[in-house]
Amino acid sequence: MVVVMEHNAKEEKIQNVITHLKEMGFDVHRSDGVNHTILGAVGDKTGLDMRQLEVLDGVHEVVRISEPYKLASRMFKHENTVITIRGIEIGGDEVIVAAGPCAVESKEQLMIIAEAVKNSGAKILRGGAFKPRSSPYSFQGLGEEGLMFLREAADKYELLVITEVTDVGQIPLVKKYADILQVGARNMQNFMLLKELGKIRNPIFFKRGMSSTIREWLTASEYILSGGNREVILCERGIRTFEDYTRNTLDISAVPVIKKLSHLPIFTDPSHGTGIRSKVIPMARASVAAGADGILVEVHHDPDHAMSDGAQSLYPDQFAKMMAELRIIAKAVKRRIGS
Ligand code: PEP
Ligand code: MN
Repeated sequence: MVVVMEHNAKEEKIQNVITHLKEMGFDVHRSDGVNHTILGAVGDKTGLDMRQLEVLDGVHEVVRISEPYKLASRMFKHENTVITIRGIEIGGDEVIVAAGPCAVESKEQLMIIAEAVKNSGAKILRGGAFKPRSSPYSFQGLGEEGLMFLREAADKYELLVITEVTDVGQIPLVKKYADILQVGARNMQNFMLLKELGKIRNPIFFKRGMSSTIREWLTASEYILSGGNREVILCERGIRTFEDYTRNTLDISAVPVIKKLSHLPIFTDPSHGTGIRSKVIPMARASVAAGADGILVEVHHDPDHAMSDGAQSLYPDQFAKMMAELRIIAKAVKRRIGS
């Protein structure tokens, strides 16, 4: 349920409504929009008489949210969420590109790739130090050493760091080195992990589970949001369908759907979404055309020898070409991509 306050309602009236909601047993989440303050009330509504709230001074209207996600919903927050990290705005006018290898393999590898992606206009360096591999026999990542390499390369080339956290116990360590913490597709419903990420203040890059609906994805994001961490970036990374030509099916329609249902920024990941290098650029173009706030792409200078996901990693010169094309498309949809 959301309580929409009157235009320019006085603070004391807002506080009075908050007190009432708390007395009724609700958790209250406040959103101060351009026109209205909105109070999201989360809790058991059984036996609630909405009129008790509607009559309070300063209340414009009380709306029941029938969807299971509340704080992620546009009903709760009308304006797009813009997340600012060291001057870089995610969810604003600029389409932000995060790029880098699937896994951190060595310092030399990261330095080469970081320089290349920075020169082409990427704003964020990606790379996994803890890899959630489908097989326990595959390369599992360099751990803390990998995080150190990421930070060093990102600082040298003035990039932000995004990297995955796969377990609750890793949060303090990953937080020490990364600007944005990624929750991978396989962990979208790891509710213990999500709850803990709700307690920190780093932005969370929240990938869609490969067999999850948009409703399940947004509902899972509530675990982070309701903990008090409002900085969630959604990422469509492809879902399992009956089609097996591509590794996954990149659901580009999720972009406009999320834009309608939620205020959170939405990225796509055409690398895991297709699994095939030659299909990454067309899907990146389509994502920007569909209104994505950003793209996450795997890039490797020597993909034939990559320790993971070489087949879907772009060569640096392909990445440069992709960025040039995306700039044209971004302009056509009234966005921009920085140099
Ligand atoms: C990744 O981005 O490195 C990754 C493992 O992606 P996903 O969780 O989407 O498979
Ligand atoms: Mn990968």
